[in-house]
Amino acid sequence: MKLLQDLSYAELSKAVAEKGFESYRADQLNALKISNRDYSSATNLPKKLISAFESEYVAKASEIVERICGRDGAEKYLFAMTDGNVVEGVFMPHDYGNTLCISTQVGCRMGCKFCASGLNGLKRNLSSGEMLSEVAAVNALHGGNSIKRAVTNIVLMGSGEPLDNFDNVVKFLKEINDGKGLNISLRNVSLSTSGLSQKIKDLANTGLGVVLSVSLHAATDEKRSAIMPVNRSNPIASVMEAADYYFKKSGRRVIFEYALGRHNSDAASAAELAALLKGKNAHVNLINLNFVKERGMRGLNRAEIERFMSELKKRGVSCTLRRSMGADIEGACGQLRIKYLREHDIAGASERRADTDKKDVSDA
Ligand code: SAH
Ligand code: SF4
Repeated sequence: MKLLQDLSYAELSKAVAEKGFESYRADQLNALKISNRDYSSATNLPKKLISAFESEYVAKASEIVERICGRDGAEKYLFAMTDGNVVEGVFMPHDYGNTLCISTQVGCRMGCKFCASGLNGLKRNLSSGEMLSEVAAVNALHGGNSIKRAVTNIVLMGSGEPLDNFDNVVKFLKEINDGKGLNISLRNVSLSTSGLSQKIKDLANTGLGVVLSVSLHAATDEKRSAIMPVNRSNPIASVMEAADYYFKKSGRRVIFEYALGRHNSDAASAAELAALLKGKNAHVNLINLNFVKERGMRGLNRAEIERFMSELKKRGVSCTLRRSMGADIEGACGQLRIKYLREHDIAGASERRADTDKKDVSDA
């Protein structure tokens, strides 16, 4: 079965015309699409139209199967896709709006040594409609619509490497920005990548202008390759060159993510990071490494974090420590899914590497 949410407004209009219905029916189906609802909720749709569409398209690409609310207003969700695969998302309310962190793939094949999302490898890509469904579901859950949105900002920082699912992610970005869709400004969207250099340039060339975050986590190839296998095929120099290109093309300052642990937080590491970013219009987002049991890597205490920050600041590096929202409900990226798979005894929790994960990351 195909997904209604995979159709752009133009494609939806075409399908409506081909099936012999009036053009305004496309708007009614579009309303379902952007609020993640089933055909049954659309009382304004004739039975004939519903049966013509439901035999070909599933209306709702995902369902929220778990919702965990934190004390600070943050919420964590598990979205089940129509094939039973689950991915996670996090909602974070702020003064300026509400941010939703979404997943772009089921699992991930990049194999970073600190991350829970990659523990079982990559299962499959999410389609643009499945990503849209994550946003639409949470927007609707919080009483939002396309005019008054409850989700105003989106970060592609859940499970998956967005640039490893390039075409679907680009389609998704166009979709959420569409005037007929949720109409979310792409200035409010951040894409985080482990650093696929060529794809960063390709993204720059789309002209979409989303905020680019590069997960750096170490400033020498030796240290970075030890924790991020993707660095072997995309060494730091190539990532920095691509980030410069992104900045030139988009005019948007690139953010560098740096998750602090024992392995990358001594004074020498701070000096290396400062040297790498010298003269660049860049900002460093420090995150304290979240402990993932299966990975065994630990973050720092407050004093150690402050020491690292002052080492950076004295060398003129612009940096902030990312506030960890939903600390009481949190697990690091990908942990909730792993827990769910384990509790529901779903294959994937026990499998070492997913079948679709045969391709090595050095091909990325
Ligand atoms: N694949 C993309 C986006 C998803 S991961 C990427 O790697 O950038 C989103 C962010 O969470 C990345 O910066 C990633 O390095 C970070 N991350 C993963 N596991 C983490 C952990 N255990 N603690 C802190 N940050 C983590
Ligand atoms: Fe994949 Fe990002 Fe996790 Fe690395 S940090 S395994 S790229 S999701």
